[in-house]
Amino acid sequence: MNNQFIPVNTPLLNGNEEKYLIECIRTGWISSEGPFIKQFEEKFAAYIGRAEGIAVSNGSGALDVAVQALKIGPGDEVIMPAFTIISPAQSVVRAGATPVLVESDLGTWNMDVSQIEAKITSKTKAIIVVHIYGLPVEMDPVLELCKRYGLYLIEDAAEMHGQTYKEKKCGTFGDISTFSFYPNKHITTGEGGMIMVDDATLAERCRMLRNLAIESKGRRFIHHELGWNYRMTNMQAALGLAQLEKIEEHIVKKREIGLAYDKGLKGIKGFQLPLPHTSYAQNIYWVYGLIANSEELALKTVKHLNEKGIGTRPFFWCMHEQPVFLKMNLFSNERYPNAERLAHCGFYIPSGLGLDAKEIDIIINELIVCGG
Ligand SMILES: *Cc1c(COP(=O)(O)O)cnc(C)c1O
Repeated sequence: MNNQFIPVNTPLLNGNEEKYLIECIRTGWISSEGPFIKQFEEKFAAYIGRAEGIAVSNGSGALDVAVQALKIGPGDEVIMPAFTIISPAQSVVRAGATPVLVESDLGTWNMDVSQIEAKITSKTKAIIVVHIYGLPVEMDPVLELCKRYGLYLIEDAAEMHGQTYKEKKCGTFGDISTFSFYPNKHITTGEGGMIMVDDATLAERCRMLRNLAIESKGRRFIHHELGWNYRMTNMQAALGLAQLEKIEEHIVKKREIGLAYDKGLKGIKGFQLPLPHTSYAQNIYWVYGLIANSEELALKTVKHLNEKGIGTRPFFWCMHEQPVFLKMNLFSNERYPNAERLAHCGFYIPSGLGLDAKEIDIIINELIVCGG
């Protein structure tokens, strides 16, 4: 019998986290001026394979900076998936630009890239790809469109630390790519994010925007543009450095969790499981999601699991069904049935790095009770 609640996520902090954090306290380096920031930026950029990393206070802020750094604003359209976390859409809306949505692929749960070109107009300035839950977006057609139409590419790789598309790391594809280090990601800094670029001028611009748009040359506190305070602290970077030392182990562990669920749930009725792979990638199982055959079954299952002490999270909600955007007269009367299906019938089960085999068995058994 399971008496203990199994949370949807538990991080793993069993490396040098404590040691590096104590160093922050002993040396007094706790702000963003501390030495771990640069080390974490350089090491994470080297791991991903980008020239520059700019550490920020969260992954959503990384997207705000990305949009502003590329001077996306009023009159511009930005293509992105209908099914995503709100972060990329809110960055675009706040910048005064217009998000243009694309339907989802029911197999990978990512944007259906074959439907992008029909959405391109003379106003389109950028495409934002969001790799969702474990499989990357099919990048080749997107890269080809960006080149042919002269569009910027922003890559939200917040769930893809270490994942590859055709052997090339996610986070290397965008003019600007972004990561999050929230505690449920493959590595965490508590809260945190990173902006990745190759161009030195663009990197300098992102650093400026992260820091209230204070310019590195000229008199401090004179501003020519509005920025943000999205600086990461040295304490967060300390955690990040320790986590980065373990990233390969974390990836192996997440894939083991995914495969254990796949095996235990094989043949279950009433639910679609994640694809273990596509022709271009192995699933990295950031989270293990299921799509119920009906909204009713999804609700019933989530309720049952909760009663049994098993945490779940519903999937993201579609952008064209967000009350906040409907109030702004965005996306009125637009329909994306695949995205709606994911949002209405999808949920994920405990997927954190702290999960053990016994807990996985309990979860599988309770799911089978609901499905059959
Ligand atoms: C987690 C996540 C974010 C946001 O990151 P925060 O650090 O929580 O702001 C953005 N995009 C995607 C796809 C995410 O999964």
